[in-house]
Amino acid sequence: MEKVDVIIVGGGLAGLSCAYELADSGMTVLALERGDFSGSKNVTGGRIYLRPILPYLPGIWKEAPLERHVTKEVFTAMGKTNSTTFEFYSDRFNQTPYPSYTILRAKFDRWFADLVTEKGGFVIPQKTVDDLIIEDGKVIGVKSGDEEIGADCVVAADGILSFLAEKAGLRKPFQPQHFALGFKEVIRLDSKTIEDRFRLGEDEGAAQLFFGSLTQGMMGGGFLYTNKDSLSLGLVVGLHSLNLKEPREEVYKLLDTFKERPEIRNLVRGGEVIEYSAHLVAEGGIHQMPKPYTDGILLVGDAAGLGLNMLFTVRGMEYAMVSGILAGRTIKKARGRNDFSASSLAEYEKLLNDSFILKEMKTFQNTLSILENKRLFTKYPQVISDLFENVMWVDENPKEAIYKTKMAELKKEFLNFETLKDWLLFRKI
Ligand SMILES: Cc1cc2nc3c(=O)[nH]c(=O)nc-3n(C[C@H](O)[C@H](O)[C@H](O)COP(=O)(O)OP(=O)(O)OC[C@H]3O[C@@H](n4cnc5c(N)ncnc54)[C@H](O)[C@@H]3O)c2cc1C
Repeated sequence: MEKVDVIIVGGGLAGLSCAYELADSGMTVLALERGDFSGSKNVTGGRIYLRPILPYLPGIWKEAPLERHVTKEVFTAMGKTNSTTFEFYSDRFNQTPYPSYTILRAKFDRWFADLVTEKGGFVIPQKTVDDLIIEDGKVIGVKSGDEEIGADCVVAADGILSFLAEKAGLRKPFQPQHFALGFKEVIRLDSKTIEDRFRLGEDEGAAQLFFGSLTQGMMGGGFLYTNKDSLSLGLVVGLHSLNLKEPREEVYKLLDTFKERPEIRNLVRGGEVIEYSAHLVAEGGIHQMPKPYTDGILLVGDAAGLGLNMLFTVRGMEYAMVSGILAGRTIKKARGRNDFSASSLAEYEKLLNDSFILKEMKTFQNTLSILENKRLFTKYPQVISDLFENVMWVDENPKEAIYKTKMAELKKEFLNFETLKDWLLFRKI
């Protein structure tokens, strides 16, 4: 069997970051990607925060194909026929180094794969890994078709359903409440139209999140990100609530219905759908995280369960990139010791624990229980939007005193045991 130093399975952000860290280390590093090119099978919403990554990966961003830096945060609570939007702008978000960008993976990952190659790594597309080779409990290589390739260390960067993690005996049993299904369209629109519609300066971007009636009572929400000359519009629905939904719902239809809402229709008007994708998203946070190493193998990115719904934003890409780099650093040290056993690779878990990734995942460990609360997607967005609708409504009848009538309604809706319980839960994040 041919042998190299390191095989990375999966050429997404996690795998490529690990390959980049190792590419000039003198080791032979192969990143095997089943897609036609890196980025061809990768889906994200797509908003990335650079500041957490910069200390680990400082040098690559000037030339990176990022879309717009986000200066405007928009949150929309959707009732059935109305909605309430909160918009936030800050000069602080509009100063370099810009904290957050929108991103298209088909462009970014492809570019990053080229960077790895220039640095000395090998990214091999159209190469699917079918199995791990395990000898005496230690991972010693991979199988791809008829081929067997040995390695001192294998890195599983094969994404959310990581079969490598399963084969290595590391993955926890799947639970539907730990996953959501995401649907996304990329809609081409010229940059001037985007800037006018979203009231943005040149290169500035908006990130808009939606919750409420768009998911028809199911856990989930929508997103709309402005790219240079396209919009990323999508919906995410919890698998668990999808399973429980009666009558059954074809999720992709939710996106069509969402697009028909006037709040969206007028933003995407005249646009052309140029990409459609669907993918699972991690919602379980720390509760779904497997042990990220054993003899001869490390797990990175989604394969290691490193994803988090923080309610006001989704995190996964920074975790993928930084975990990839930490895995690379661990491998370099293991190489120095010439020891790729579990006890040697255990250092990776320590690096993860000391990094922002695990710290954030611990801090936000209760978001899952908040997300399981149906009232967040039904009652609250509806009550808020109805309140504003009634306050703003003027007709032939004399307008009633606002405080007296609306306060009575609000008290009825919010001064009860359920809301108190929800409030106590919210205090945990
Ligand atoms: C709808 C949606 C919205 C999201 N929004 C955001 C967001 O706004 N911000 C954010 O930070 N995160 C977001 N995320 C999460 C984020 O996209 C992921 O956390 C991130 O892509 C994980 O990167 P990865 O490299 O670990 O996995 P992936 O990008 O999934 O890469 C895995 C790679 O492995 C390859 N592969 C799999 N099996 C094999 C095999 N057997 N052989 C060879 N190759 C294989 C795949 O083709 C793929 O290229 C979102 C995710 C979804 C689905």
